[in-house]
Amino acid sequence: MIEIRDLHKSYGSLEVLKGIDLTLSKGEVLVIIGPSGSGKTTLLRCFNLLEMPDRGSLKLGENAFEFHGRAKIPQKDILALRKNTGMVFQSFNLFPHMTALENVVEAQVTVQKKNKSEARKRAEILLEKVGLADKADSYPHKLSGGQQQRVAIARAMALDPEVLLFDEPTSALDPELVGEVLKVMKQLAAEGMTMAIVTHEMKFAADIADHIILMDDGHIIEQGSPKEVLNHPKTSRAVQFLNHLN
Ligand code: ADP
Repeated sequence: MIEIRDLHKSYGSLEVLKGIDLTLSKGEVLVIIGPSGSGKTTLLRCFNLLEMPDRGSLKLGENAFEFHGRAKIPQKDILALRKNTGMVFQSFNLFPHMTALENVVEAQVTVQKKNKSEARKRAEILLEKVGLADKADSYPHKLSGGQQQRVAIARAMALDPEVLLFDEPTSALDPELVGEVLKVMKQLAAEGMTMAIVTHEMKFAADIADHIILMDDGHIIEQGSPKEVLNHPKTSRAVQFLNHLN
């Protein structure tokens, strides 16, 4: 489903991704961990080209890209990729002037050109799925952070993407609201959704991941099953990072 080869990304003279290789199969859950500043978010944002890599290649489903410095990727190819990847951000990013239902309807009408009633039906099903059928007509400011994030997950699924991307989806939440969001994510994983998740929730990572990568300074320094990476890390840097968490 996702194949990344020798991916490089710099911001000015700061090289943030220093040659990333990664494969993720359909239905698998990838969790990306590592210290702050190691490149996790940048890597995730390269998956749907919210950040443009400088070198390397990316394949996501049928969407395939090669990056060569300044050579431009056609906008229509970027849009096709974005349709195929739902993204959930740390800070929810819901449209504040739209109800929960309207937030989930929006892209179906503007991007997929569905008619309104069909889009509403799909939105109702998705809100039900994240446990918010009764909040369909609420505006974001009337919802808790956990509820807003669940709406954001429903919205990310509205275009039936092949992959869902999560960038620290619980780190802006009060501790008592984290569980309800993780529960929805677990349910999606159990249903076979392909997902890539940046998170600091190690227990959750161990629980949900098929594959974990641990990044440090723009490199993947450990990868494998949760057991391999979290319980039997090979590098001293990984041991140091994981010990620091405990
Ligand atoms: P992580 O998610 O692991 O904390 P990031 O991918 O957010 O790491 O950031 C990696 C490095 O890139 C950091 O040094 C950060 O300051 C820098 N960085 C991230 N985004 C930008 C940007 N848009 N412009 C310049 N530097 C950036």
